[in-house]
Amino acid sequence: MSSQARYIRNELEPVEFATLGVGEQERVRRTLRQAIVDAIEFIETHHAQCKREHPGSCNIYKGTGGIAWAYMRLHAQASVIQLPYNIDVKQLLLRHADACLTTFSPSPSRGIGFINTDAGGVVLALVLHQLGLRPLSVSELERYRSALADMSLAFDKTDPEDEGMDAELFNGRAGFLHALLLLKKHGVTVDSADIASKVQRIIESGRAGAKAYPLRTPAGRLIWRWSASPHKVYLGAAHGICGILSTVLQAPQDAWSPYADELRQTIQCLLDFQRATDNGNLPSSIGSPRDELVQWCHGETGLVLLLSLARKVGLCVDIEHALAQAAECVWERGLLTKGPPSLCHGAAGNAYALLETDPGRALAMALHAADWRQLEREGTLLRGDAPSSLMCGLAGAICLWADMLGVIEVFEADFRIVLPLVPFYEVERL
Ligand SMILES: [Zn+2]
Repeated sequence: MSSQARYIRNELEPVEFATLGVGEQERVRRTLRQAIVDAIEFIETHHAQCKREHPGSCNIYKGTGGIAWAYMRLHAQASVIQLPYNIDVKQLLLRHADACLTTFSPSPSRGIGFINTDAGGVVLALVLHQLGLRPLSVSELERYRSALADMSLAFDKTDPEDEGMDAELFNGRAGFLHALLLLKKHGVTVDSADIASKVQRIIESGRAGAKAYPLRTPAGRLIWRWSASPHKVYLGAAHGICGILSTVLQAPQDAWSPYADELRQTIQCLLDFQRATDNGNLPSSIGSPRDELVQWCHGETGLVLLLSLARKVGLCVDIEHALAQAAECVWERGLLTKGPPSLCHGAAGNAYALLETDPGRALAMALHAADWRQLEREGTLLRGDAPSSLMCGLAGAICLWADMLGVIEVFEADFRIVLPLVPFYEVERL
């Protein structure tokens, strides 16, 4: 596919909700609500038949576990969203959770990252138990806690040959740290010392990676190689440095502040890569001449999320220009042609990234995404292989539309009712 065909020319205007007339505001609400209803209908019709979504699997990325996760979020936001009475989100949630958890036997042998390994199912089961939505028996609870402990041991295992690898958010150590942080945010007891030691281990791995990587990296910068192809250093959110740093910065400040200088310098290094490209987009990996991907998994979207977070937690103060440039790139090239509008490589993930920097643009993109059926009919949007799923399909878009409704309904209010979105964005601040 040519780079021109990866995205649609963006001719949208930002939608500043507060300045709209009453009728227009109602139209926006109706569009978002209808998009959620329509997506639920699609998922309930298609998921069980779609082999590529591994129906019955706890996988958060493409499987039933991710769909349960989206419904769990929807359930938490029900009072704000006001779905039609005939849609019982709790019943949908429990049906999908039962479908994947009843025979689930988690093992660290398949990796330890929340998004794409058994860690996701373990977190789902423990959070549903914690929220009182799907209580576990004592023995089930013990089984999940023991699986988590096994994954923690796998995290801690070191092999000198693998130094600087296995840190990515998708399958690796940052993915396990993300699992612990999600548990903590939902009230499950997690040892703070354990979180701090996991952050330390990730930093140490980045130091080792910088030494091992054949690039003249200035001292103090962290590099993580990609385990599946050790000569590669990915930069984006799924497999690369943006995702690893974003996860570390979501840990309590005490855990990452001892490494603040190295984290800042590594972010600076990413900004150097951003400046070096013609279009201002982050290349997918160090040395890659290609920079056409502007999506959560690769490219500038992960940088927008990272810089927004670095600003929010006070790590970086002089990044306004870089953040504005990154957000501009996501706005210009973020209406992706891969459909339905997904979080990983679709317009939904790009809209989420802009929520922090340009809420009016984020809402415009979310409304554009809501029109996905029409865009498909026109041939503008090409359907991907897991159209119901959380990260590649409509379950993730449901989270976006629900959060947008939440943002506009409780504009100034305490928004902590909204659960943190997997895997990269928190709406709490809004
Ligand atoms: Zn992707």
